[in-house]
Amino acid sequence: MGRVAVLVESRKIELQEDAEREPSAGAIRVRIRAALTDGTDLKAYRRGHPQMPMPTRFGHEFSGDVVAVGEGVHVFSRGDAVMCVHTAPCGVCYWCRKTQEELCERVMPTMLLGAYADFIEVPRAIVERNCFAMPEQLSYQEAAFLEPLSCVVHSTEMLEPHGTVAIIGDGSFGILHALVLKDAGVEPALIGRRPERLAIARGYGFDPIDARSEDVVAAVRQRTEGRGADAAIECTGTQAGWEETPALVRRGGTVSLFGGLPPGSSVTFPAERLHYDEVRVVSPFHFTPRAVRAAYETLCARRFDVLPLVTHTFALNDIVEAFTRLDEGEGMKACIEP
Ligand SMILES: [Zn+2]
Repeated sequence: MGRVAVLVESRKIELQEDAEREPSAGAIRVRIRAALTDGTDLKAYRRGHPQMPMPTRFGHEFSGDVVAVGEGVHVFSRGDAVMCVHTAPCGVCYWCRKTQEELCERVMPTMLLGAYADFIEVPRAIVERNCFAMPEQLSYQEAAFLEPLSCVVHSTEMLEPHGTVAIIGDGSFGILHALVLKDAGVEPALIGRRPERLAIARGYGFDPIDARSEDVVAAVRQRTEGRGADAAIECTGTQAGWEETPALVRRGGTVSLFGGLPPGSSVTFPAERLHYDEVRVVSPFHFTPRAVRAAYETLCARRFDVLPLVTHTFALNDIVEAFTRLDEGEGMKACIEP
């Protein structure tokens, strides 16, 4: 028997008993060792999420140890430490055949939730395509970054980044983008307004632009000989952030809208900026198995330290406190360690 956290309604989490089952064919049962919170979880906690009707299990960034394997699983065995993402494409639909697996019809309906728990069953599709053995040098917390880092790798692949890239948002996705870009030789100009998060960015050696005291467009131009950034990535998932992004790039630059808005949202851009200045717009969503593999290799090689992004660690019994604190705006990512 294990425990599983269930989001029963907005701002109400219950720990429930979870019956122990043998894994299905091709699946593995994993004892969770680290599960990270992210912005999607917090959004779901505050106001529900269209992909996660309540009551729902939640939590999807995790790592742990295999405790049982289903029939036909040969790659992993009991006792192996593993890291995975919470989705896998079907491999046969129109989008999968076009290698746009992030848009696969099966990705969202079959996503795996419930990492705030003692155990989770990882289904066959994920085991086969998006699950990896954890190397000894990684901690469980670091390994749990595989999913968010996969999103960021996919995002930067769509951008073909070079020169100076402005990033709107000092949350974990903003800083992960800055780390991936810097590692690729690109100069990130990180924009934020939360002192605690700007301090984390400075700890990494970045020189963030403080939107509370600086004119953001002027500050970006000042860093780019007056032109504007070669690209700008929106990582706040707010309408204001989306509408502000085109002003940050140079003529011929690229706007990347990474932070999703709720269904039904609309945004307005100045048409002349997009047309006469040839500003290109991309909207990266989710990730491909190729991005997951690249994120795995980045983590294994320890290209940068992800751990400063984890500001709190809680036991599973204290998950209510974890979300209460995040809801109050404290910290960045919390780690739940059952
Ligand atoms: Zn597919």
